[in-house]
Amino acid sequence: MADPRKTSLNTATVRQQWSLEQCIEGCARHSFAAIAPWRDMLAEMGVERAARHIRDAGLSVSGLCRGGMFTASDAAGLRKARDDNRRAIDEALAIGADCLVLVVGGVPGGSRDIAAGWTQVENGIAAMLEYSRQVGMPLAIEPLHPMYAADRACVNTMRHANDLCDRLGEGVGIAIDVYHVWWDPELFAQIRRAGKKRILAFHVCDWLVPTRDLLLDRGMMGDGVVDIPAIRAAVEAEGFDGLYEVEIFSAQNWWQRDPDEVMQTVLERMITSV
Ligand code: ZN
Repeated sequence: MADPRKTSLNTATVRQQWSLEQCIEGCARHSFAAIAPWRDMLAEMGVERAARHIRDAGLSVSGLCRGGMFTASDAAGLRKARDDNRRAIDEALAIGADCLVLVVGGVPGGSRDIAAGWTQVENGIAAMLEYSRQVGMPLAIEPLHPMYAADRACVNTMRHANDLCDRLGEGVGIAIDVYHVWWDPELFAQIRRAGKKRILAFHVCDWLVPTRDLLLDRGMMGDGVVDIPAIRAAVEAEGFDGLYEVEIFSAQNWWQRDPDEVMQTVLERMITSV
């Protein structure tokens, strides 16, 4: 059982129904501890205005989604990613985020060279760290499920993320999302390897059987096959005492419902299924 008072709303969970402003009000109304906005919703509301509303609502920010997308087919693309990531750090600072979540990018466009992607990701994070360390914004690598290796993230395991952290040093850690890592036989060993210092965020939802869409069919906690309490216990055994960020992309189900019902269900499932 997870403490529902430590729940954070990743705004993707109700993004079809609510604007960011409505998400902030909804979090306050349902006594969520925190929010984790996506940058497109942040831009729509205006960063300064959103920061003020979040502060006034008494919410913390478990993370900003997202920076990254480091891989590109040419120098101009790499430069564009670098500039955008610098802006993402500034936005994360403006809203007081605990970390900036990195979805690192897939195989460089037009190639079959995933190894080149890995190198671009490592170089991209290294370049970003020069600024993020100065301003004190932790970067959280989010390993994604391997089904996204081609187009979203070529870092797909906790081991790969830990290896990157070993080489990159201070200022970078990991966002553990149960949806992406639950299947990995090394998961628990790699959580121990990461330890308290590296675990910057903990995202929850569930893996449905069958999964009908690769992106937009995530389940509510308790509705799928992931042993979320076991993963939470492992993360907390390392000393992680941060927030439980609920992140559910669900075009057919949860995005079709009354968002207040979604919020209420999330809080109930924290007790029964997280
Ligand atoms: Zn996530």
